Amino acid sequence: MIPYLSRAVNTHFLRMFACAGALSIILAAMYIEINLGDLVRLRKKHPCGGFEWKVVRVGADIGLVCQTCNRRVLLPRGTFNKRLKKIVKRAAEDEA
Ligand SMILES: [Zn+2]
Repeated sequence: MIPYLSRAVNTHFLRMFACAGALSIILAAMYIEINLGDLVRLRKKHPCGGFEWKVVRVGADIGLVCQTCNRRVLLPRGTFNKRLKKIVKRAAEDEA
């Protein structure tokens, strides 16, 4: 095989993988499925120092209870999606 051609092909594949990666991140951000009782971690920490929240309400707003100080907050879903870092534990995982 001609060396420069194979390099071009490799670059092409790398680009495709990079695209797929970016796309999956975008899709993951759009289709966050959240359920009552899920334990989530947010990017911004609560003034009390807590990072983990339990989902107590799911709708246009997401109700969360801080797992450190038990305070309850309501976040619009869009804000919640942006702040969500990770779902620590799924509530229904064991039952399903
Ligand atoms: Zn707190």
